Amino acid sequence: MSADSGVRALYLHLPFCARKCAYCDFASWATPAGDPLMSAYAHAIGAQLGEASSLGLFEACETAYVGGGTPTLLGEKGLGQLVEKVVDATAPSEFTCEANPDSLSDEVLRAVRGAGATRLSIGVQSLDDGELYELGRLHDAACARERVTAAVASGLDVSVDLMCATPTQTPESWARTLEGVISLGVAHVSVYPLQIEEGTSLDQRFADDPCVWNDPEVQAERMIQAQVSLEAHGYARYEVASYARAGKECRHNKAYWTGLPYLGLGTGASSMLDVEGYLRLLEVCPQLPATPVETQRVRLTVETPRRELSEDPRLCALSFSLEFLTEPQAVAEDLMLGARLVEGLRPELVVRARELFGGRFDDTIDDLLARGLLAEKSGRLAPTERGWLLGNELYGPLWDLAPGEVRSAKC
Ligand code: SF4
Repeated sequence: MSADSGVRALYLHLPFCARKCAYCDFASWATPAGDPLMSAYAHAIGAQLGEASSLGLFEACETAYVGGGTPTLLGEKGLGQLVEKVVDATAPSEFTCEANPDSLSDEVLRAVRGAGATRLSIGVQSLDDGELYELGRLHDAACARERVTAAVASGLDVSVDLMCATPTQTPESWARTLEGVISLGVAHVSVYPLQIEEGTSLDQRFADDPCVWNDPEVQAERMIQAQVSLEAHGYARYEVASYARAGKECRHNKAYWTGLPYLGLGTGASSMLDVEGYLRLLEVCPQLPATPVETQRVRLTVETPRRELSEDPRLCALSFSLEFLTEPQAVAEDLMLGARLVEGLRPELVVRARELFGGRFDDTIDDLLARGLLAEKSGRLAPTERGWLLGNELYGPLWDLAPGEVRSAKC
């Protein structure tokens, strides 16, 4: 395999949480402290990492990310050993671990830093105790402040996740949260409007409520408030939800948004591979189907439950759901993802889209420009603030350029 066609980013998913947050529908399950399943699972992921590495998949890997779930629940020994294995397999120049304040002990901090992590992404969500309680978070604001301070002092690049348009949030409390995390000296902030996902306890609690606190207008106001506050303090927005100090953008997430191949290991983890990478994986995963003709990109999600994965970590024992994208579908996907970025669409992507979609592409772009959802900036087509606030009206027409249905399979 040539270095150019290996994966550029590695993601490991640890689907364990001390308790399920009220809004969460991610692949994570409440797990008692010290449950042996966690260490068995971490060992299994380490074994899969070794197997994938022996395929030569990581020769061009630049970034790694251990997410969840709550990776810090593994504790200093378990998480430190896993970080070491990732460093051995991929030698990433950027390595992020996700953390929650309540399980981010000094020992865990020292272990992940000592083992080679370079970044921490901490799920803070709010610095208001009432809001944190409504969201079902385990930490309070004092804990979040104290743990973020310790993380910044450890020398790691620290990112915090914040959530807006939540049940009891006000413009004033949101301002206090933003100012609070800025004052802690973090390098990066991600800001998301709360999504009320079906089947979550938040959804059940507000089933008969119009949830005016989560209206699109409230979401837009809070996102604009965040932008004004963060930019005034030297954080530059580089993606619809992401702000960073100079040089502190998350390169791992940028890989997702710029169509670079990545491998995801663990229950619920997704990968995006080019055909050469997929064929390499097929060498050890005979359960994977052959690619349909004209496939250019394969998306795979690990469907194996965490206990089964822990008991048999071989890659050939995994079950997957798959999607096979043709080149026009992959280009439409890249256009849609590229429209999340401040820098806009790469010129070579625009050239290829014009070759593939002809007049339909120009008509779509002209319409998005006329509606103020895209604009020409520094010679590139780039999203406007309005485009981001009306996200689906921008992303939908770009994805609709993709011809035909995406072929899918399960194995
Ligand atoms: S900590 Fe994160 S992954 Fe775990 S339940 Fe809460 S939101 Fe979901």
